[in-house]
Amino acid sequence: MSGQLFDRVALIGVGLIGSSLARVLRRDSPGTTIVACARREKTLATVRRLALADETTHNPAAAAEGADLVVIATPLSAYAEIGQRISSALKGGAILTDVGSVKQAVIRDLLPHVRESVHFVPGHPVAGTEHSGPESGFAELFRDRWCILTPLPETAPDAVTTVGQMWQSCGMRVVTMSADHHDKVLAMTSHLPHLIAYTIVGTATSLEESLKSEVIEFSASGFRDFTRIAASDPVMWRDIFLNNREAVLEIVQRFTEDLTALQRAIRWGEGDKLQELFTRTRTIRRSIIEAKQA
Ligand code: NAP
Repeated sequence: MSGQLFDRVALIGVGLIGSSLARVLRRDSPGTTIVACARREKTLATVRRLALADETTHNPAAAAEGADLVVIATPLSAYAEIGQRISSALKGGAILTDVGSVKQAVIRDLLPHVRESVHFVPGHPVAGTEHSGPESGFAELFRDRWCILTPLPETAPDAVTTVGQMWQSCGMRVVTMSADHHDKVLAMTSHLPHLIAYTIVGTATSLEESLKSEVIEFSASGFRDFTRIAASDPVMWRDIFLNNREAVLEIVQRFTEDLTALQRAIRWGEGDKLQELFTRTRTIRRSIIEAKQA
């Protein structure tokens, strides 16, 4: 982080994402005081052992007190209660942001608790792995990935710029869009692929024993890539599907129709249809590689 943007940062939630941000702050902004908040003592002990924060606490309000920047980085189901607990502790002029994978629900849960003097900048660094907890974080996690900010019409532009600068200094490309648009885009690019992976791996686990062991043995033939995605944190993903219900259901509907069409093409031996689709999808992969998002 070139130049110090904040004197005091509160990280409420120090798992994969929160601890990765802490690592960047530690490395590039040594003058910034970091306060880390988590529920379990074990998590806070790990944070202290890894020297990721100057202070640790179980109390979100104590963490938020006096901070210039408060970053909520917990599963989505904890947001409403955290919002309520930090509401009166946030100082005037403080920036409240988050990293949640769904944005309309975050605004729904946090906005009622944000006083007028606090700048609220919802955000989503679109970067991750299937691992969780403070030990799994690393400073390079964000490099060359996108960060989507979904400010409200009334959010002060300076606060949006400052949060954007923080993510840029983590190596991210920053874009702003409406929360509604974010949720639709992510339903397609992230939530549907995870749902498909969970389904495929779920189907495999319900096979009879003999077949199940062979699925594991011969997993390199495609199944293995799905198992990595389906190993993502169960609580986090439960929350994502429950909090982006409409956009996910809409995209699942589209997907189901397309799957049925493919099923038909296979049944009726329509090779041209299959080949045409597989040719189109191959070009998508190439554009992702060109956009350096592979
Ligand atoms: P994680 O590794 O599981 O860490 C979650 C953290 O939140 C832990 O430190 C946990 O503390 C803490 N926490 C949970 N409930 C809390 C509460 N009520 N009060 C205070 N702290 C609490 O999760 P993550 O992967 O970093 O994800 C965090 C957020 O980032 C989620 O909202 C997710 O949607 C978003 N996100 C994730 C990814 C990804 O790929 N992982 C990518 C982008 C955005 P304890 O250990 O004490 O429970």
